[in-house]
Amino acid sequence: MSLGRPFSLTYLGHATFRLTTGSGKVVLLDPWVMGNPACPEALRKFDRIDLMLITHGHFDHIGDAVDLAKKHKPDIAAVFETCLWLQSKGVEKTSPMNKGGTQKLAGVSLTMVSADHSCGILDKDDKGRDVVIYGGEACGYVLTLEDGFRIYHAGDTNVFGDMKIIGDLYKPDLAMLPIGDLFTMSPREAAYAIRLLGVKKVIPMHFATFPPLTGTPEALREQARDVAGLEILALEPGETLR
Ligand SMILES: [Zn+2]
Repeated sequence: MSLGRPFSLTYLGHATFRLTTGSGKVVLLDPWVMGNPACPEALRKFDRIDLMLITHGHFDHIGDAVDLAKKHKPDIAAVFETCLWLQSKGVEKTSPMNKGGTQKLAGVSLTMVSADHSCGILDKDDKGRDVVIYGGEACGYVLTLEDGFRIYHAGDTNVFGDMKIIGDLYKPDLAMLPIGDLFTMSPREAAYAIRLLGVKKVIPMHFATFPPLTGTPEALREQARDVAGLEILALEPGETLR
């Protein structure tokens, strides 16, 4: 698929995306590839990663963060407490932030915005038992690329009224929205989110990875059929939007 813009965005399945900016920087959003059953094998390896963004601490979003960070040494943006946990694992170059804040990394201006979700990090204690670490709060990001194009990655969330504020303030050109239901928005909620955000190009995510994530792009199209000019860009895992 083509947007006629100087970046490319590859869907790695679930909520994971690889963005290559116009200046050639590689941004990985929600690093989960090795255990991600939707990620094509050939896309589990990277030549470089300049920036990693983490929406929250659940394994299906942070699963490969530590390994990939140690290998590629990217800048990493995450909420403050998740950065502390990453630092405790020996990860360098974390750039902690919180909701409402903006910072520029790898040429991309990042604004952290709300998401309505949980953020516990599953870890092991010194006896090898499972423990859940407080990871701060779940978030989404608005990315402003070098040419001004704005991308909103909602993270895992339900629909919430402040999406109207995200739409008013940042006017995203493209949004990645979860539609799978059970742990996030269903297509019905995602359609409501589209109306609040005023966005006209939407990539559905966080569906079909596991059987309980039952929402589909077809159901989203049906629920949002009243939205004039809306394009639902249903990428297959491995597919690139250019
Ligand atoms: Zn998730």
